[in-house]
Amino acid sequence: MLRNVARLVPGLALALLSAGVIGAAEKLPNVVVLATGGTIAGAAATDVQAAYTSGQVGVEQLLAAVPQAKKFASLKGEQIANIGSQDMNDEVWLKLAKRINELAAMPDVDGIVITHGTDTIEETAYFLNLVVKSKKPVVLTAAMRPSTALSADGPLNFFNAVAVAANKDAAGRGVLVVVNDWIHGASSLTKTSTTAVQTFLSPLRGLVGVVAYGEAEFYRGAVGKNTVDSEFSLDGVTALPRVDIVTAHANMDGAIVDAAVAAGAKGIVIAGVGNGNMTKAGLDALAAQAKKGIVCVRSTKVATGRVGRNVEVDDDKLGLIASDDLNPQKARVLLRLALLKPRAAADLQRIFNEY
Ligand code: ASP
Repeated sequence: MLRNVARLVPGLALALLSAGVIGAAEKLPNVVVLATGGTIAGAAATDVQAAYTSGQVGVEQLLAAVPQAKKFASLKGEQIANIGSQDMNDEVWLKLAKRINELAAMPDVDGIVITHGTDTIEETAYFLNLVVKSKKPVVLTAAMRPSTALSADGPLNFFNAVAVAANKDAAGRGVLVVVNDWIHGASSLTKTSTTAVQTFLSPLRGLVGVVAYGEAEFYRGAVGKNTVDSEFSLDGVTALPRVDIVTAHANMDGAIVDAAVAAGAKGIVIAGVGNGNMTKAGLDALAAQAKKGIVCVRSTKVATGRVGRNVEVDDDKLGLIASDDLNPQKARVLLRLALLKPRAAADLQRIFNEY
């Protein structure tokens, strides 16, 4: 607006410039893009085929493909990894978290965008939500269609993610995920379709907001403790304890629970049936491991709903933890961080209730 007026009245432009009014008002925020791969950086041989390879396009190409994003922010890119997120691992997680904490502490960095695959974006986002020590916007984005596809969804998702990361109103809402016009909280979103562009939903906790062609509207803050309020820190951490997910089903026995512990798991998350249930054989194996000090959390493979304490399973008696509304993959992330130090069962249950 000021710039338009100034263009029409050149003398006024000079006066506003020397008073610092135009320059100050229009300085763009600095957003750093950390690329990790995924389908958003994927490529196929043709624009209309299902087969493709994730993590083929580098961060500079990604930035160059969406020059429109420069209207929201000055952008810099860094390549953290270039992998399909089905291969996401602790090494990349620790590197990513460390770099985000370094960048977020810099006064001239206003926001951070992370490009990622959709398969495990909810796990990475939730991990970062627990270990990033900043209120600055940290926004993950992804795509369901590779960059070479007809109607690729990556460019607009990236454009929207930059808009949200550059938006002051995004601060203090925890780590966010922007895909297909929706702004999700890290603790709430989950992938619900193997191939559809509209794959992410936030079934229990709801959306943090929406974003249409860069125009964001925020409904609320994050649900669950996060970032600057989180008690978890990666200071001095070089490895995370092993926690395995065991899926419950009809006729389940305890063999896989025991095998997980034999493989070195310090914690087990059950992707239970119903309200975190499992067969009597499964439960007996789990309770026996809990007695030996393995932390056992009951979550559910059902798409929505909380897992409550002492509903059909006597958690108090068996020494088990209920996941509240965290799905198995997020319960696993939280438990790995919680197990960085020894804790009593009551403290572990508190953590699952608060995060
Ligand atoms: N397998 C891909 C990944 O997670 C899927 C995607 O990005 O949509 O990297």
